[in-house]
Amino acid sequence: MSFIGRLSWFFKEQWGRYVMAIVLMATVNILSIIPPKMIGNVIDQIRTGGLTQPELYRNVLLLVGLAVFVYIMVYIWITTLFGNSILLERLLRGRLLQHMTKMSPSFFQKNTTGELMALATNDVLAIGQTAGYGVMTLVNTLVGTAVVLITMVSLISYKLMLAALIPLPFLTFVISILGKQMRKRFVAAQGSFGKMNDHALESISGMRVIRSYVQEEHDINKFDEVTKDVMNKNMRVAAINALFHPSISTIVGLSYTIGIGYGSYMVFHNQISLGQLISFNIYLGMLIWPMIAFGEFINILQRGTASVDRLAVSFAQQADVVDPVSTVDVERPGRIELKALSFRYPGSQHDSLRNISLQLERGQTLGIVGRTGSGKSTLLKQLLRQYPIEPEKLFISEVPLEQISLAQVRGWMGYVPQEHLLLSKPIRDNIALGKPEATGAEIGKAVEMASFTKDVEQLPEGLDTIVGENGVMLSGGQKQRVSIARALLVDPEILILDDSLSAVDARTESAILANLRKERSGKTTVIATHRLSAVMHADWTIVLDDGRIIEEGTHEQLMLFGGWYKEQFDRQQMEASLTG
Ligand code: ATP
Ligand code: MG
Repeated sequence: MSFIGRLSWFFKEQWGRYVMAIVLMATVNILSIIPPKMIGNVIDQIRTGGLTQPELYRNVLLLVGLAVFVYIMVYIWITTLFGNSILLERLLRGRLLQHMTKMSPSFFQKNTTGELMALATNDVLAIGQTAGYGVMTLVNTLVGTAVVLITMVSLISYKLMLAALIPLPFLTFVISILGKQMRKRFVAAQGSFGKMNDHALESISGMRVIRSYVQEEHDINKFDEVTKDVMNKNMRVAAINALFHPSISTIVGLSYTIGIGYGSYMVFHNQISLGQLISFNIYLGMLIWPMIAFGEFINILQRGTASVDRLAVSFAQQADVVDPVSTVDVERPGRIELKALSFRYPGSQHDSLRNISLQLERGQTLGIVGRTGSGKSTLLKQLLRQYPIEPEKLFISEVPLEQISLAQVRGWMGYVPQEHLLLSKPIRDNIALGKPEATGAEIGKAVEMASFTKDVEQLPEGLDTIVGENGVMLSGGQKQRVSIARALLVDPEILILDDSLSAVDARTESAILANLRKERSGKTTVIATHRLSAVMHADWTIVLDDGRIIEEGTHEQLMLFGGWYKEQFDRQQMEASLTG
């Protein structure tokens, strides 16, 4: 069975707890046949007038003692079994996150955030339930039914048992049919609930845009439709749910009717005693739950199996960038060299980088410019090894990049991405992300280099101000400078700035660039930008267009060349003098 197969590691690890829970459950099941038998005996003794007071006391005491004992055992198996399902959920969530941290960007392009969240919540929950509640229903069905049936046959009458049980298989049948319907409707309701979530999320995060385009009413109407759909689907679930109880009552009532009717007939003909008839009816009641449990078990197992399969699909996705079998150790990155590097995104129709060749000595600064969509970020991502790379095309210190371990490559790089991400934490922690043990002085220096000191002074709690979703909102330029300080703090061998100064004013930009030139002498820096003033001082600048290098050289050479670079530079200078 795929559920047990896929989770065999867990069952192997926890078999002791499972055995204990199952043994206790079975014991409770067996012990529970004693009280009805005692009640039957007492009634027969009353009828024949043979009941003495000490015997009555003894019976009562035994019943109370048994109840206390069963109470304790039930407590232990419930905590053990349900503890297992909580533990499994925890382990699975940990594994999932661990798996995701190893994945490259293409994984997150294939699996949306919503899907991954659903996996980590709904699916993991369903699996946990199967490993706890599912096991409980299974054991209850098997042991509970067996124990009661054996008792009925051996202590009372197999004929009465067969007669009374005729309606009970229908119970399982009805429950499984209703269950199937229920599941179908439930899935539909969950689906539309998910859609409602997505809609709410988009409306709230996009509220400003919606309002500025005066689309509130349109959005509210659409949301109204979505919530109506959720309501209707949940109504359908409730309708099926309402059928459960009466169906069960009817079938169980039928069973009791036969039990009492045929049983009385047998008492009348002296085939069984009155006490036996009463015990029998109590046993009949004890069969109802195992029958329901069987239907439940089928439902739970199906849901758990579906979820465990979904999880397995996600776990089976391998990272498309992995460490080489044998790595070459490069102590310090020296010259970076590209030899006719081309690149195509997985699943894309055309190349995003074509035939890129360049050389960058250690300590030099490279500028990458070009119109939007020309491949600047793509080239940086190749250096960062976010995507698979063509072998023997990109070298660091004469070693092909794909032969160096990922940890080493990423350890060299300080990366300020184009879409900067701040976590909902104090600014200090955001900056110290790559170096949690950094001292206050080190952080202060990084902040200073990123020209962020004045901004910090104006924040309500300085570096301890919490930013992000439930904190203070920072401006675009402030966020950029926090990202820059984060990268500078680790004093990386290779600093990669992807359009990282686009939202700061010209004066701040030149202050940061001057700091970089001063503090990073001897270390390599790569700057992709739209503002050409940011690469004026670069040792070499390439101009990309449609993934190709169309111009390259120093600032002076490119100005003399008189192509795209010069045209852009002149335009930007003119705009700056007009606005400045
Ligand atoms: P900008 O200046 O706007 O940041 P850019 O020069 O950084 O642009 P890139 O982001 O490198 O441009 O994109 C280069 C090309 O690659 C574009 O045509 C883009 O559509 C494509 N591209 C970018 N990311 C992906 C991706 N994950 N999958 C497929 N194609 C992509
Ligand atoms: Mg870009």
